[in-house]
Amino acid sequence: MKIIFLGTGGGRFSAINQRRMTGGFRIDNLGGKNYHIDPGPGALVRTYQFGLDPRNIDGVFVSHAHTDHYNDAEIMIEAMTRGMTQEMGYVIGGKSVLSGFESWGPCISRYHQSNSKVLELEAGDVRYFDNCLIRATPTNHGDPKGIGFQIEYKDFKISYTADTSYFPELSKAHQGADILIASVLRPGRKSIKGHMSTSGFIKLVNEIKPKLAIMTHLGLKMITNKPIAEAKRITKLTGIKTLAAFDGMSLDINYNNPARARIVSLKDVDAPYHGSNSKISSYERKNIDKLAMKNNESDEFDLIQRRRFQ
Ligand SMILES: [Zn+2]
Ligand SMILES: [Zn+2]
Repeated sequence: MKIIFLGTGGGRFSAINQRRMTGGFRIDNLGGKNYHIDPGPGALVRTYQFGLDPRNIDGVFVSHAHTDHYNDAEIMIEAMTRGMTQEMGYVIGGKSVLSGFESWGPCISRYHQSNSKVLELEAGDVRYFDNCLIRATPTNHGDPKGIGFQIEYKDFKISYTADTSYFPELSKAHQGADILIASVLRPGRKSIKGHMSTSGFIKLVNEIKPKLAIMTHLGLKMITNKPIAEAKRITKLTGIKTLAAFDGMSLDINYNNPARARIVSLKDVDAPYHGSNSKISSYERKNIDKLAMKNNESDEFDLIQRRRFQ
């Protein structure tokens, strides 16, 4: 199994200035399936940039109705369902994301929910999907219907807090996690309302005692404050191996020993089919067309046909 970070920046301003990317993360090869979690702005482009294929995902999870988490959800769903031509995969999220709640969302149109199995979850809900079990976990954040999750696959548990401040029930909801992924916006003690800072994260790690803890969704203060050194400090304080995620970080997870995950820094690929790439050669263009035809991406096919007859 791999956990791949396509963005480790968090919060509105991190997203606007892209000092760190905001594409969320993928859990790949979990029982043979791939899932994209919180595909924020740039998720699609970052997928290609790090050499992955957006078409091979089996589910999209969106934790709450903030742009840095949902922005690219619909286009990722289009990739998953082959441009909405096939019924495929899961769309998982809270009420605000999928149905709308008060002034929050919906963030994914009914059209984009129509070709996949939809799981609308409230904190505390437990559901099966593919070979896994998902428990929606509570958050204390701006969106009152925001959720995190704990996914269980054959006794192995991956927890994701999503955006939330620290509160005692949070560790109960994530109890038993082998891997804990948390949004940690700021270093130190001072936290912004509805967000976790390092001190809250330390409490959480001490209470849950995962085998591996990962901080992501880093705000501007954290980014400029040496997050790797901060992670080392937390490792020392808690005795739990803690990592600060970085853009393009891929973790090869051994189920028996997640603390010894192999960290790979993915190469920033000059993706040949990235449309904005000016260096693209005509030979490559030809192959893009072929590839599109092979994948039944028929609007492309349509365009090619028309171009020929013009
Ligand atoms: Zn956020
Ligand atoms: Zn948020």
